[in-house]
Amino acid sequence: MGVLRTVANFVFGMECIGCGTSSELLDPWLCPACAAELAREACAPKFPNDDVFCLFPMRTLTRRLVHALKYRNIPGLASYLVRHSSAVKHGMVAQELLMLAQPLHFVPVPLHRARYRERGYNQAELLAAALATATGGKVCRWLKRKTFVVSQTKLSKEEREMNVAGAFVADFPRGTPMRGSVIVVDDVFTTGATTSACLAAFGVDFPLPLKICTLIYDEPSTAAADYAADCRADWDGLRSRR
Ligand SMILES: [Zn+2]
Repeated sequence: MGVLRTVANFVFGMECIGCGTSSELLDPWLCPACAAELAREACAPKFPNDDVFCLFPMRTLTRRLVHALKYRNIPGLASYLVRHSSAVKHGMVAQELLMLAQPLHFVPVPLHRARYRERGYNQAELLAAALATATGGKVCRWLKRKTFVVSQTKLSKEEREMNVAGAFVADFPRGTPMRGSVIVVDDVFTTGATTSACLAAFGVDFPLPLKICTLIYDEPSTAAADYAADCRADWDGLRSRR
């Protein structure tokens, strides 16, 4: 299968990570159609609140790309996605970040050691490095993971929050920094449980502003599900009164 794929790639060109079609015009990850779609998504960075910047919304294409970054051993996608995001292309996120006190300290959410060994890289660290290059900031490994955390994806919102609360500790090898701003970097922002646990690790007395930047904002579908459940409850209530 591996040999067949290699031969197919040689004859028909490599597969686009976005749509899976073979193309000789990859850039080097996306075909022209997917690259154009990514450029459109890059125009819509998401800001779930004043302290959180997300470079892309979660869409079919961006979901595939972040999945490839995490599970298909394509670390080069981190800088590719940051370079193609509004942080660099349209300057929107970069502008927000440059309004903060300088210098910018990009702090990646640490990966558990076992997962790092399995993956060979921490995608949050690669994203932090790409953001630091784009904005002139620095990568600072100021967070450590305290306990083993089971995969977040299989847990409910409440379970996720319980699972990561208190999972991180701040560690400053050269003493607490007194200048600039801290931006905690992760791949996906969903409920904010992981990044909140990271912010909590800095403690209430931490002197610098703390922000969050993630590659993707996965809008919680729970809001829609809750609304549907409320409507159903109203409807059932109406029916039982008849
Ligand atoms: Zn494509």
